[in-house]
Formats: sequence, structure tokens, C-alpha cells
Amino acid sequence: MIIVMKRKADEQELDNVIKWIESVGYKVHLSKGVERTIIGAVGDERGKVALKAAENMPGVEKVMPILAPYKLASRESKEGNTVIKVGDVEIGGSRCVVIAGPCAVESPEQLMEAAEVVKKAGASMLRGGAFKPRTSPYSFQGMGEQGLKLLAETREKTGLPIVTEAMSAEEVELVERYADVIQIGARNIQNFALLKAVGLTRKPVLLKRGMMTTLEELLMSAEYILASGNDEVILCERGIRTFETAMRNTLDISAVPVLKDKTHLPVIVDPSHAIGQWRFVLPLARAAVAVGADGLLIEVHPEPDLALCDGAQSLRPERFAELMEEIESIAKIVRKEYAQ
Ligand code: PEP
Ligand code: MN
Repeated sequence: MIIVMKRKADEQELDNVIKWIESVGYKVHLSKGVERTIIGAVGDERGKVALKAAENMPGVEKVMPILAPYKLASRESKEGNTVIKVGDVEIGGSRCVVIAGPCAVESPEQLMEAAEVVKKAGASMLRGGAFKPRTSPYSFQGMGEQGLKLLAETREKTGLPIVTEAMSAEEVELVERYADVIQIGARNIQNFALLKAVGLTRKPVLLKRGMMTTLEELLMSAEYILASGNDEVILCERGIRTFETAMRNTLDISAVPVLKDKTHLPVIVDPSHAIGQWRFVLPLARAAVAVGADGLLIEVHPEPDLALCDGAQSLRPERFAELMEEIESIAKIVRKEYAQ
């Protein structure tokens, strides 16, 4: 249920309503918008009637059920869009934010070079996996904590915030110590123990859609994180599995406007994992920005031929610089404000 407060409701009235909601066994999620405050009351259906009585309390405008199964992620539960701040970077705001870097951290030199290249071209954050979810157990599995240390050192030198993946609930504490944003990979979208664990952290979470996940399932996974107390979730469309085999996956471009309609959370697109071939990353990135994505996740490697992971889809530095120029001009057209 959501409780919408009147525009003129004061702090005392809000406090009374919160106490009432808690007294009937619900958890409170407060969303203070510019216009008004909305209270999300999360709990099981049994207290519904008692909750409805809040309608008669001073300061309350209305009490309504949230019809979607994802309560906190739903647009109804919040006024406006969620904007997530990572240092000076705002995701979900007026700018289209680009997160770029290698698939995996491989060495200090490789990471530093990639970081310098993406920074110079205008990326806002650096990505790089230290724990890699590989299809084959014989493939490079990532550098582990050593990789996290390199990411942190690179952040010190470049000022770029770090996005990196945690693959299990047990790993979260370690990854949280180094990362600015914790990534949950496509294969872990329904690892509910992991979702709950990142929900308990105070770091934003980049949640990648699984290759066979419906948008409702994606939002339900986001709900796990929100319900555990972490309000900062970035959704990422990264291609789904279809009958088509010409590409690694099929980029579901329609997911962007549909998700933006259903949720207040920011939505970004990863064209690299969707297409799997560097030649087509640029056209998909153009499409993603045009359709309203709040950001892009792009794999960039100083020498893709030598990459230990996902070289075929990684852009060379000069190609990435081209992409940044192109998408800037598209972003200027489609986003309300776009200040570089
Ligand atoms: C990645 O970002 O490197 C990655 C493994 O992505 P996904 O989980 O989308 O396959
Ligand atoms: Mn990758």
C-alpha cells in the first residue's frame, strides 16, 4: 500500500502516520519528493484493512494499493525518478552516463591504460571484473582480491569511480570494501541470497537482466534489494536469449522505455554483451541513447586481441572515443538537459 501525504502535511502528522503504519505491522519506506511525501507500507496483506484507516488521519490525502507485485520499485511508490549519486556522477539525472573499461582486470598496466583511455574520451566511471562468471571453468576466472586492489589504486590515480561484480553473498563484504558500485551479473539475477546481501550494503547496485528474465522478474529482483534497505539500484538491459544465433544475445531495446514507464529506477544498456561483436557496439549504443537509456556500459580494452575475456566485443581506444562523440550528439537531442 502507499500512503500519499497532503502537500501541506507537517512533520508531526507524518510522524503520527509512520507510527500508525508500524503499529499495524508494516515496514515504512519514505519517499520525500519535491511536491509531496509518499509512504510505502510494506508487509503482508493481512493488515490491509487497518492500514486503510490511515486515510482518516490528519495530513493524509489517500491510501492506495500498489497493484504491481514489485512495490518499492514501482513508479507509483515514488514521485519522480531515482537519481543515484556516485561521487560527482549522477545516474538517472539529466546526463547519459557512460561506464566503460575492460571485461576483466588483467594487470596493473592493462587496467591503468584502459582507465586513462576511457577517462580521456569522457567516460564517468570505470568498470572491470575481479571475479568473473565464466561459462567454462577452464577460462580465466579473474584476479580476485588482487584485482579489486588494482581497481582501487586506479581510482586513486584517475578519480574514476569503480564498478565491479560480486558473484556470491559471501563475496559481498570484500567487494563492498573496494567498489563504488556493486555489479550483479546476468547469471545471478535470481540469486536471492546475493540480492539480499547487496541490499544490506550502502553501495549502489548495478543489476543486470538475466538472459531469460522477464521485465517483471527483473523488477522483482530489484525489489529484493530495495526491500532489504538499499534504495540505490540501477537496472541494466544486456541482451536476452532468443532463437536468433547471429548475435551473442538479442538487445531488447524496448525494455528501456517499458522499464522507465514501470519504475522510477535508472535504466542503462550494455550493448557489448548484447551483441558480442565490437563492430556493432556503436549502432546499438546510438539506439540505446536514442530510446532514453540513462547510461551505457561499454567494454573497452587497450588491446582487444590480447584480452583474457570478451575481446571480440571490446572496443579499441580510438573506437570508444568515436562512440563517445556520437552518443553525445544524440543525448543532446533526446535528454532534457545535457551539460558536458
Ligand atoms: C560483464 O559485465 O562482464 C558480464 C559478465 O556481464 P553479464 O553478467 O551481463 O554477462
Ligand atoms: Mn564481459
